[in-house]
Amino acid sequence: GQLKASYCLTEPGSGSDALAAKTKAVLNAEGTHYILDGQKMWITNAGFADVFIVFAKIDGKDFTAFIVERNTPGLSVGAEENKMGIKGSSTCQVFFENCAVPKDAILGEIGRGHVIAFNILNIGRYKLSAAAMGGCKRSLTNAIRYANERQQFGKSISSFGAIQYKLSEMAIRTYALESANWRVSNYIDDRKKLLTEEGKSLAEASLGAAEEYAIECALLKVAGSEALDYVVDEGVQIYGGYGFSEEYPLARAYRDARINRIFEGTNEINRLLIVDMLLKRAMKGQIDMMTPAMEVQKELMGIPEMGEPDTDAFSAEVKAIANMKKAILMVAGAAVQKLMMQLKDEQEILMAVADMIIDTFMAESALLRTMKHAESEGAAEREAMVQVLITDAMDRINKSGKTAIMSFATGDEQRMMLLGLKRFTKYRMLNTTALRRTVAARLIEADNYCY
Ligand SMILES: Cc1cc2nc3c(=O)[nH]c(=O)nc-3n(C[C@H](O)[C@H](O)[C@H](O)COP(=O)(O)OP(=O)(O)OC[C@H]3O[C@@H](n4cnc5c(N)ncnc54)[C@H](O)[C@@H]3O)c2cc1C
Repeated sequence: GQLKASYCLTEPGSGSDALAAKTKAVLNAEGTHYILDGQKMWITNAGFADVFIVFAKIDGKDFTAFIVERNTPGLSVGAEENKMGIKGSSTCQVFFENCAVPKDAILGEIGRGHVIAFNILNIGRYKLSAAAMGGCKRSLTNAIRYANERQQFGKSISSFGAIQYKLSEMAIRTYALESANWRVSNYIDDRKKLLTEEGKSLAEASLGAAEEYAIECALLKVAGSEALDYVVDEGVQIYGGYGFSEEYPLARAYRDARINRIFEGTNEINRLLIVDMLLKRAMKGQIDMMTPAMEVQKELMGIPEMGEPDTDAFSAEVKAIANMKKAILMVAGAAVQKLMMQLKDEQEILMAVADMIIDTFMAESALLRTMKHAESEGAAEREAMVQVLITDAMDRINKSGKTAIMSFATGDEQRMMLLGLKRFTKYRMLNTTALRRTVAARLIEADNYCY
């Protein structure tokens, strides 16, 4: 914990396409040092880091990570960037000009830099989402307190339905994010423990666990950054004109939040990754998507069963989540069958499928947590949050599914899939306005985020 470090991957010409980096490393004639030449961009901590982890291509081809100390001749740091937000963090360009680093300064193996680069990103995405969760809670609490204090038309603005809608939606998204974060934290912890017991070092176990849950890390990153942006945006709105003033906390939160959708892989790249990793794992036989996809196909051909009325607690919600998964399997399965290798170029479909997956994972996480705490204080309000979440998620899943189906299916196949989608995105008809008011009432009473 003595040294501060930075991670130098991005370059002016290569951001999302990180492996197209141009920074080069060439072994000197004596065979003692690698000579680095190139330029890195947007490097966090660069202003004060003691150590730089630099990704460069040996002889322009083998992507490799190097440990470079700050005082190495040939390394120089540019001026601080003039950023929109997170102004408390240092972000600079880093230049390497004839910069000689000892041969043993290679981190990991030659040509395996991408493994280090991407594994760090898995952990970074997971952490980003936890930080976003903290930001959501803080901004929401600020907004609740302000709404309780601020009087207009002779009343607190928190007494208005329009404001209660916002507070409840901010709380629902925060609650879902928190539930998903805890769920994935538990998965990663368990996996880490298992790998440690198998004899892996702590570092190997941490990286291995994050790699195993790379899909969840990408998913959390997207969901976390977008929940936070929603919360700070509505937070500014609740503060009204004071939200636009740097004298109040929401303006800074609004500016600071925005970067989260851009770094650690943009949300577009992470959405693409979610589907790509899932399909690759299915193709490698690591997860079985085929059997459930076939079952969904069979179900689509059959007569819809009317089923028993959902009388048990949460039985309608459990069924709703199962149906969301069927909708994903139906759309993704058909898209793979129909488009095969061409699917990777149909980004609109991939984005739609990613959105369906994210919505399902978030709703399921919130439901699992709510069921676990069904007896504790605030249970009725938590149940209300989950019901609103599932209602809205179903609508979004229906829309995403429809967009995807209409772009690749035609004729009878299209009609059958649209009918299937309708069947799989059905949920109870609930008075979500009343449910939201219940959720908001508890927030207003507690004067902070209390779920
Ligand atoms: C404050 C800050 C701190 C940062 N810290 C670091 C750091 O410490 N270390 C580091 O290495 N980097 C860092 N970065 C860089 C960051 O990771 C990149 O900015 C990010 O990966 C995006 O790259 P880019 O800016 O070149 O955008 P581009 O890659 O040019 O993307 C521009 C737009 O095109 C979209 N796009 C790109 N490719 C595709 C595609 N294949 N399909 C669909 N859409 C696509 C993107 O989603 C985005 O919307 C930081 C950036 C900022 C702003």
